Amino acid sequence: MNCKEAEKNITCFIKDELGEKEQEKFIVHMKDCPGCMEELSIQYLVFEGLNRLEEGGTFDLRGELDKKLESTYSGILRRKSLNRWFFAAEICAIVAFAIFSQLILF
Ligand SMILES: [Zn+2]
Repeated sequence: MNCKEAEKNITCFIKDELGEKEQEKFIVHMKDCPGCMEELSIQYLVFEGLNRLEEGGTFDLRGELDKKLESTYSGILRRKSLNRWFFAAEICAIVAFAIFSQLILF
């Protein structure tokens, strides 16, 4: 993802409207690009800050943004590794079935 695409996706990320693949590309870009990260921080502060002011609570928005980035990213990584396990389990099942069917035939 380049800076232009990243900037376009900032609002969608804040509102949790990005798909998983887009989220991953977005976060990877943010980790490497201080300019876009700065832009994300500002928009997050404005967006969430306005909501919070209406609710009247206290907040550490920069900390929350970091947490949001981390938890979204670790969720993606967790799902990916789960998918790898399911794939491995599927291969095992196919191999076991192949061996089993050979045993029955002979
Ligand atoms: Zn960038």
